[in-house]
Amino acid sequence: VLLSVSGRPLDHDGQRGAIVVFHDITEAREREADLAAFAGIVAHDLKNPLTVIGAHTEMARDALPDEPEQALESLERVGSGVVRMRRLIDDLLAYVTARDAALKPGEVDLAGLVADVVAERVGHLRVQPDVYIGALPHVEADPAMLRHVLDNLVGNALKYVRPGRVPKIDISAHTAGPGWVRVEVADRGIGIPDADKAHVFESFHRAHAGQSYGGTGLGLAICRRIVDRHGGTIAVTDNPGGGSRFSFTIPAAVPVVPAAVDAHEYV
Ligand code: ADP
Repeated sequence: VLLSVSGRPLDHDGQRGAIVVFHDITEAREREADLAAFAGIVAHDLKNPLTVIGAHTEMARDALPDEPEQALESLERVGSGVVRMRRLIDDLLAYVTARDAALKPGEVDLAGLVADVVAERVGHLRVQPDVYIGALPHVEADPAMLRHVLDNLVGNALKYVRPGRVPKIDISAHTAGPGWVRVEVADRGIGIPDADKAHVFESFHRAHAGQSYGGTGLGLAICRRIVDRHGGTIAVTDNPGGGSRFSFTIPAAVPVVPAAVDAHEYV
């Protein structure tokens, strides 16, 4: 425990003493350390594509006008560097929003929301993934934030597939105690090593870094923040059929109370 001490001397009617106040600043210090680590990683992750962009801008300039093909190749590298920076900035903004934006909860039709998210994610794909959607209830949540969670989980299920395989996703919901719903998004993809399972919800933790799956490592950290803010929890286990199964809990929609019956009707 880290304590900061403040206080003042007291001199009252000849009685001398002091008021000493201890503040527990552990959490504040941890937040500061988190922020420093966070800023360090962000700066590093933004600097990499920026270095590539700088170098290839120069190479393109040097290559013109005699080597247009070389210039074009460099410009393509500049373009992908820009895309990577934009993705990181988008995720950073979503990360901050997930923490700070006011929650606007209301009744959400989970079935409609999932159908929307899946259509948006797979609509343009040439090979349609195999998506099974179970019966989904209404829940009590901030619709934009819940959409973000589902979009991240479905996006990952489509991304972390075994090479050459058609993605397979199974989305279902079950009651999880009174007033709670557990939503599950299972895939048949590459799975997550046991040692990484506890860490994939931390910002920037990437279980498959160095492989050809691009990413920022922020998506699941955003999901955890959003689920946390709804009072729920999020976890990942192996999918018994191979792949991963993400599940999170979210409040069930407040049950509709039938309107009170006017007793006079029965008199
Ligand atoms: P990223 O931007 O890297 O995808 P996420 O925060 O969404 O970041 O996920 C963190 C890490 O968890 C990923 O880098 C990946 O290693 C792993 N991961 C997430 N979803 C899946 C999945 N459905 N199957 C396998 N691995 C996954």
